Amino acid sequence: MKLNKENLDAIIIGSGIGGLVTASQLAAKGAKVLVLEKYIIPGGSGGSFKRKGYTFDVGASMIFGFGEKGYTNLLTRALKDVDEYCETIPDPVQLEYHLPNNFCISVDREYEKFIEKLIIRFPHEKDGIKKFYGTCEKVFNCLDSMPLLSIEDPSYLFKVFFKAPLSCLGLARWLPVNAGDVARKFIKDQELLKFIDIECFCWSVMPAIKTPMINAGMVFTDRHAGGINYPKGGVGKIAEKLVSGIERLGSKIRYRANVIEILLENEKAIGVKLSNGEEIFSDIIVSNSTRWDTFGLHNNDKGLIKRDNVPNSEYKWSETYKPSPSFVSLHLGVSKEVIDDSFNCHHIIVEDWDELENEKGVIFISIPTLLDSSLAPTDKHIIHAFTPSSICEWENLSRNEYLIKKEKYYSFLIEKISNILPNLRENIEHKEIGTPRTHRKFLGRFEGSYGPIPNKKLLGLLPMPFNSTKIENLYCVGDSCFPGQGLNAVAFSGYACAHKIGSKLNINNVKLPE
Ligand SMILES: Cc1cc2nc3c(=O)[nH]c(=O)nc-3n(C[C@H](O)[C@H](O)[C@H](O)COP(=O)(O)OP(=O)(O)OC[C@H]3O[C@@H](n4cnc5c(N)ncnc54)[C@H](O)[C@@H]3O)c2cc1C
Repeated sequence: MKLNKENLDAIIIGSGIGGLVTASQLAAKGAKVLVLEKYIIPGGSGGSFKRKGYTFDVGASMIFGFGEKGYTNLLTRALKDVDEYCETIPDPVQLEYHLPNNFCISVDREYEKFIEKLIIRFPHEKDGIKKFYGTCEKVFNCLDSMPLLSIEDPSYLFKVFFKAPLSCLGLARWLPVNAGDVARKFIKDQELLKFIDIECFCWSVMPAIKTPMINAGMVFTDRHAGGINYPKGGVGKIAEKLVSGIERLGSKIRYRANVIEILLENEKAIGVKLSNGEEIFSDIIVSNSTRWDTFGLHNNDKGLIKRDNVPNSEYKWSETYKPSPSFVSLHLGVSKEVIDDSFNCHHIIVEDWDELENEKGVIFISIPTLLDSSLAPTDKHIIHAFTPSSICEWENLSRNEYLIKKEKYYSFLIEKISNILPNLRENIEHKEIGTPRTHRKFLGRFEGSYGPIPNKKLLGLLPMPFNSTKIENLYCVGDSCFPGQGLNAVAFSGYACAHKIGSKLNINNVKLPE
């Protein structure tokens, strides 16, 4: 079956937040796009699913980028650009850390409050603390003072340089730098440096020495500037509203549309083939699938681009970046009395610093019903907990071995969470356990990975690729593009991708956004 172009300006493979922001931005510029999603709901790792009266977030639930001011509030802006709005609930605390050596600290929305607490624990590092987080603020201020569009477009770079020359120079300075190098310049205390490591690890899954300073500046400042804000009704609301905006503007999304091949002619992308044999054509194809899945980098038979057409630059990329481990996730429905109303929403437990990057080394816990009780039936809370786990732990197991292993990880997680929430085990009303295999299957992500991490220490964000690829008319978007993982980061990638395509289609506004 062959479908003719339908006059589609672009086809977007995947409805993760990166894919949806690309689609909604293009639709807002007047383009007609088609989003093809293999699953039954939008959002990918930024979606939500419902079970027995509970609304669970698939992955992300600590949301940056929902502020009201500046330019880094990309989720607020992306929704607004398609006349949508997501009601959000401000979180007074970004997260609470439970660390070795009885070191417990929460990161308050109010910057001074957090810094004071850190100084009380490390009085001898007062200056270093202020200088490190102060430098992060400088990086953020550069980012926040210019409209964030495609760095690949020379005309944009030219305009933005004239609008904010100092910010541009500032960013150019920080682009090749990692947060760990800046931290080490100002801080000597080893425990405090470990703390900076977990501050980075909790969103970059890397210690500070491998975490780009641009991303650290963004995260460590936006949590106090725009703040952490939870979308009412669940994180999936962001994707649902982007889809509403896309459809209202005359573009479309199709679910259960599994793209198995990107079609090329004369080395140019010309369309896609679905698993039902259907072929759909457009002059522009955007892949929101990871680079490993798009180009079959570890298994040529599984890529969307046929083996002979995979550009060498993509193999080079996969030598520079490797997939981070996946997670074992628990989605629990629990009795309300287990959790005090004053408890913080997000928690991280590390028992041994040496285990930080290892299997089960960190435990992440989120209880979004503390912010939005509508996510669970009356008198219930939801808990989403996860711990890093590698796909190789879960391969080649019999069905029985797989189920036994799932229960072992479940018991491990419940035991650890019970340290901060006693009486949990007896009060669980509903449970779901996801493994790296679950993430691979339902999120369509290579090895169920959270995203790319450097194979070795790199020069900050410099080696991270932008949206264009070496295949003409094929673009990539999402967490394996600049600037990496996280909803706000992939929203940036979506803005950049739509801008780059917009300049090719000649539909970009000549003026920079307000
Ligand atoms: C457990 C977990 C917790 C997280 N916590 C946070 C957090 O608190 N805050 C935060 O900001 N970020 C968090 N993240 C990271 C964040 O969710 C991701 O970085 C981001 O959502 C990735 O977006 P993406 O656009 O790259 O696409 P994805 O989310 O990977 O979505 C890609 C979509 O494409 C579809 N697709 C793939 N291949 C095909 C194909 N061949 N045909 C059709 N469709 C296809 C998939 O089904 C999927 O829907 C978390 C992630 C995980 C897994």
